[in-house]
Amino acid sequence: MRSFRDIPIKQKLMVITMATTTAALALAAIGIVAFDAFLFRQSLTRDLSALSRIIADNSTAALAFNDPRAATETLAALRARPHLATACIYRADGSLLAKYARQDGLFACPSPTVQDEFRFSNTDLTVSHAIFLSGRRLGTLLMIYDLDEISERMRLFGTTVLGVLLVSSLIAFLLSSSLRAAIATPISHLVSATTTVAQTSDYSVRAQKVSGDELGVLVDRFNEMLAGIQSRDNNLITALRDREEALRDAERAHERFRFMAESMPQKIFTTTPAGDTNYLNRQWMEFTGLSVEQLQNWGWIQVIHPDDLDANVRNWRHSVETGEPFLLQHRCRRADGVYKWHLSRAHAMRDASGRISMWIGSTTDIHEQKEKEEELRRANEDLQQFAYSASHDLQEPIRNVAVYSEIVAKRYHDLLDPDGRQFLGFLTEGGRRLATLIDDLLAYTRAGVVEAGIATADASAILQRVIASLSETIRQCDGKVTYDSLPEISMSQTHLQQVLQNLITNALKYRKEDPPEIHISALYQGAAWRFSVRDNGIGIDPEYKEKIFGVFKRLHRNYSGTGIGLAICQRVVARYGGRIWVESSPGKGATFFFTVPERAPRAHSAAAESSAG
Ligand code: ADP
Repeated sequence: MRSFRDIPIKQKLMVITMATTTAALALAAIGIVAFDAFLFRQSLTRDLSALSRIIADNSTAALAFNDPRAATETLAALRARPHLATACIYRADGSLLAKYARQDGLFACPSPTVQDEFRFSNTDLTVSHAIFLSGRRLGTLLMIYDLDEISERMRLFGTTVLGVLLVSSLIAFLLSSSLRAAIATPISHLVSATTTVAQTSDYSVRAQKVSGDELGVLVDRFNEMLAGIQSRDNNLITALRDREEALRDAERAHERFRFMAESMPQKIFTTTPAGDTNYLNRQWMEFTGLSVEQLQNWGWIQVIHPDDLDANVRNWRHSVETGEPFLLQHRCRRADGVYKWHLSRAHAMRDASGRISMWIGSTTDIHEQKEKEEELRRANEDLQQFAYSASHDLQEPIRNVAVYSEIVAKRYHDLLDPDGRQFLGFLTEGGRRLATLIDDLLAYTRAGVVEAGIATADASAILQRVIASLSETIRQCDGKVTYDSLPEISMSQTHLQQVLQNLITNALKYRKEDPPEIHISALYQGAAWRFSVRDNGIGIDPEYKEKIFGVFKRLHRNYSGTGIGLAICQRVVARYGGRIWVESSPGKGATFFFTVPERAPRAHSAAAESSAG
């Protein structure tokens, strides 16, 4: 059987209403009945007291004259009170004078008491009253009144109360049946709404509001709570969906990356932000003959050539700490133990907040290229050596040609006919031009050599030296050379002088009819000094603006020259990590630019370096 706690609220309300109503009614009825019984006893006592006094007063004569008949007649008047069972009048000595008994006559006259008294027993009330005349006691009146009236009254009352109780319970039942709906219905709506939500997890369900009382407020709050949960649930579902989509995207991207990495000829790797390798493509295992487990994390260092290991670990740590890209040429050991040159590079991948999420790197086999480069370098060195030696060795005989042709011209001038003198003139001029060409070629072979140690040059001082050496030429053509204040740069003085001399000489040489105007300036830009030499000369067709930097490349054949000056400039500037270019159009002058990085890299010497030394 279900306990009271578990029965539905409807039934609970019914039980509570009925129990309280019935209890209240029953208590009220008991109270009324008890109070009525109490009042009835009191009024009965008063009534019998008055009656006994009347009978006593009416009996004084009969007692005084000892007249039993008169006394009996007086008592006979008591017939009007059906519940008066017996009445007895005693003389002063206690003997019975007269007696009245109801028709059933069951009661006998008991012995009279000395004092007046009212004595209740369960079944009757005995009233004893002394009879006096002129202060003398004549006798005693005793009446016995049965209490059936009280029982009858109680029965009647009980029946009435029970009837009222039944009727009022019925009314209470009917009323509570219709009224309890006001409480039970909103609660059952709430219950059904919560049950639906719990079973279906559908937070769009709302409980129906039927009243404006506390239950109505409860329904409102419950619905608000559901709305809150529903919106959070929707957000959660959207976030989950987005996250799933993002995860799928990431997985697809990962798959694509793996596919690409596996199908590439290079060795690919990824590392954690801390630099621990967590992925290596198949090519690594094939090349090194080691397993992923052996190479993972920092396992790869075992395949790096001992001579490259220190630089490798230092550079890698530096990149991991600073986030700067990693770039290094090093030797990696193949499965057969042979070391091969590789170029490794790695870049940090950053997330939206700029934090490094991983490193992606590649290691490319450059062994063949490296060998070819080495071959080329050696060939270049040999070639330079040859060019230098040839120029050097040619200097002497050419100088002899020039010197002796001048001697011949002076000493045998009169012996030669005009043709002979003209031919000798050609010979002298040719010898001089050859000597200039050889000097330029020697300068060109030396141009690539960077002197040992950190060389610095005060560009202003060098420029003044160049202008001074060209002062005669400048004066002859009525030229004007101006310049801004120039910086001190990391470059050998000889080289800077070579570059400025060539550019200013050209600016003077390739002039128009008007006197040449040349301006030199320098601007600090992107960790380098950018110099410019601007002139107002004949200018250059943009089509040739790159070609003119090649050896022996000349545009204006009607001007004297060897076509080596700009090639020397380019070689020098390139050796310091800078570049040279021109901006010009025909007839509008030309501006030559060259850059010198603030910290010029130390280039290794070409063969000429040793030969020149
Ligand atoms: P060159 O000995 O012929 O001057 P360069 O290498 O110095 O050799 O110059 C190459 C060519 O570039 C020149 O022959 C000339 O045609 C052109 N050139 C150089 N500087 C200028 C300039 N300032 N204005 C016009 N043309 C120039």
